[in-house]
Amino acid sequence: MQPERGPKRQFPQEMRNFNRNQIFKMIILKEKEREFLERAIHLARQGMLSGSGGPFGCVITKGEEIVGEGFNQVTSSNDPTAHAEVVAIRQACSKLGTYQLKDCVIYTSCEPCPMCLGAIYWARPLRVVYANTREEAAAIAFDDDFIYREIGAAMEDRKIPFVHSPHQLARDLFKEWDEWEGKTLY
Ligand SMILES: [Zn+2]
Repeated sequence: MQPERGPKRQFPQEMRNFNRNQIFKMIILKEKEREFLERAIHLARQGMLSGSGGPFGCVITKGEEIVGEGFNQVTSSNDPTAHAEVVAIRQACSKLGTYQLKDCVIYTSCEPCPMCLGAIYWARPLRVVYANTREEAAAIAFDDDFIYREIGAAMEDRKIPFVHSPHQLARDLFKEWDEWEGKTLY
């Protein structure tokens, strides 16, 4: 005898718009996580409408508490590094009095660019939850994909020339750090 089948499982509306491969990469967020992600999207809109910069927002949580948040401030502060994730990481680290965000989760309205990806790896959070993808960002002229490709490019093929000029003083400095017993490793 065939076991009775339960009601057909329905994915939420936004997931039904994607193909199979995309759905497998997604996770269904818990209520609270969804609220944090929506707060990041809200901040993105707020930053955009106030003329701060691009439509990007970020929230960092520790447990149930928001410990840092921010939106893109590149054009208003003349700071190319003032991406939402960097702004939020700085705020969270300052609030928590630490240079590492272990036990924290980063919610961002868009998949991080390579700079923020680097910042996130240095900050070492538990995980990152993002809404829009970098392909969607590229479609509205935020082409981070270009920088991702540059990382893999040979030094001589990079769009911005990188000139290697070895120097003994620089080597001495590294040796000094390596042998210094008072350093804080990170
Ligand atoms: Zn970024």
